[in-house]
Amino acid sequence: MSECIFCKIGKGQIPSKKVYEDDKVIAFHDINPEAPVHVLVIPKEHIESVNMIDENNSKIIAHIFVAINKIVKELNIQESGYRVVTNCGQDGGQTVGHIHFHVLGGRNLQWPPG
Ligand code: AMP
Ligand code: ZN
Repeated sequence: MSECIFCKIGKGQIPSKKVYEDDKVIAFHDINPEAPVHVLVIPKEHIESVNMIDENNSKIIAHIFVAINKIVKELNIQESGYRVVTNCGQDGGQTVGHIHFHVLGGRNLQWPPG
């Protein structure tokens, strides 16, 4: 998966505006923000989408949500609220084939999404 852009960001081979990193996860500002806070949280290991989550790799998802809790505190949106979204496949609007969790906040978000 050497061509995967998010794998490259995870390895530091492509620069990103990093907000959090540990041995398993990296989070960085979205290049095209849809809200005042728009961060992407990704596992460093390549997992294509929710479709590829199973008993063998599901621990990383819990780890990502622990990281998200730290990130929203750091970015001061924990109290005001935020949304965590993962798009899956064509109808879900997924454009990068490496699972990622959008964390959106800093404004009142509309529901339902379009
Ligand atoms: P999705 O459409 O759910 O697959 O989300 C992909 C997201 O990745 C979009 O919001 C893009 O703006 C964002 N994105 C793509 N390339 C980069 C990059 N190099 N750095 C930061 N965000 C990116
Ligand atoms: Zn990847």
